[in-house]
Amino acid sequence: MQVRVLGCSGAIAKDCRTTSFLVDADLLVDAGTGVGDLTLDEMAAIDDVVLTHSHLDHIAALPLMLDAVGSRRTRPLRVHALAATIDALRAHVFNNVIWPNFERIPSPESPFVSFHEIAVGQCLELGRDAPKLIEVLPAVHTVPACGFAIRRAEGGAHWVFSGDTERNPPFWERINAIDVAMLVIETAFSSREEALAERSLHLSPVALAHELAHIDPGKQYPIYITHTKPAETEEIMSQIEMLAGREVAGLAQRDIRWLKADGVLTF
Ligand SMILES: [Zn+2]
Ligand SMILES: [Zn+2]
Repeated sequence: MQVRVLGCSGAIAKDCRTTSFLVDADLLVDAGTGVGDLTLDEMAAIDDVVLTHSHLDHIAALPLMLDAVGSRRTRPLRVHALAATIDALRAHVFNNVIWPNFERIPSPESPFVSFHEIAVGQCLELGRDAPKLIEVLPAVHTVPACGFAIRRAEGGAHWVFSGDTERNPPFWERINAIDVAMLVIETAFSSREEALAERSLHLSPVALAHELAHIDPGKQYPIYITHTKPAETEEIMSQIEMLAGREVAGLAQRDIRWLKADGVLTF
């Protein structure tokens, strides 16, 4: 399985694109602005999109992508999301005001997109050439949200993505019970903005340490930090390093890296 990092930034700027990952060639995890770097053929090859939540930085490219490649596809693009996320997309994006209702265009019988409800705890099997199992994980955010654990259907370790989240004990309970190849977890704010992180239900370095302390001590896997605000990335990473240097529980003896866009994670 291969995960291509299309976008992993907490905001846009030159060379900074928001959350989106391409798993193999056919599954998109979130549809942030990173999708805009794909060619038309690459976009048209995507059959399924799984969304963590309705925030714009995770869905911005979805309406634009449908417009770009809908007519090149013979089947609707399937979008899998929590019920609240689907409701929000219908009400606020595909409402014929912000963007056309592609659930009925070009025709209700053969539309560009179809929405499919998922729930935390559910496991989906998706993937045309290389079937994948996608488990929906809990997240704690200002709108209903989730994370994902994805592995090849035939077996193997999981690629785990936290989604946007604050402190989330049930998440750790679940990921300690599965085989993890790597974890991608958000740390949107620096310690300077800890209060804002708590209010907006995102992590900052101290909260990240609190979270990573839940990892089963016997387990070791690379941890990639995502969703850093471009202006704060260096600060966030040096604060994490400093806390790790002080042997703060959760960060000491952990392999923690900043997630780079354009990278491909293979396992
Ligand atoms: Zn969010
Ligand atoms: Zn976000």
